[in-house]
Amino acid sequence: MAEEHTRTAKAECIFCRIASGEARAEIVHQDDVAVAFRDLNPQAPIHLLVIPRRHIGSLRDLSDNDDKLAGHLVRICVQAAELAGIAERGFRIVANSGREAGQSVDHLHFHVLGGRPMRWPPG
Ligand code: 5GP
Ligand code: ZN
Repeated sequence: MAEEHTRTAKAECIFCRIASGEARAEIVHQDDVAVAFRDLNPQAPIHLLVIPRRHIGSLRDLSDNDDKLAGHLVRICVQAAELAGIAERGFRIVANSGREAGQSVDHLHFHVLGGRPMRWPPG
């Protein structure tokens, strides 16, 4: 039952569908475990998303076994910023976790934002 639920959730997960190639996205990097693509509704001149291929709901669902993956995802964020030409002037990595933080897709993702001055604190 729990497994069935997970399978259904994954089948309907837009980021799982992008990772498997079932749904289209403007992909800027992909490897065995991660995919980076342009956000559909960009909040800055450069707005990329970096996701694990595996369905992980949020930061809270990372386990001890995922330390290597988590490090890899952060390094891909930096690489994507370099490729997009925003690394030197400055960029921001954001991972919204949970409703109050504004997480709207329940598949772990890092936003990579840049190309304009960023304000602090974020809204
Ligand atoms: P969150 O609100 O969960 O932190 O971020 C989800 C992000 O995914 C949003 O910035 C939203 O624009 C983006 N997004 C949602 N659906 C799609 C999609 O189908 N394709 C792409 N490329 N981005 C999406
Ligand atoms: Zn997913």
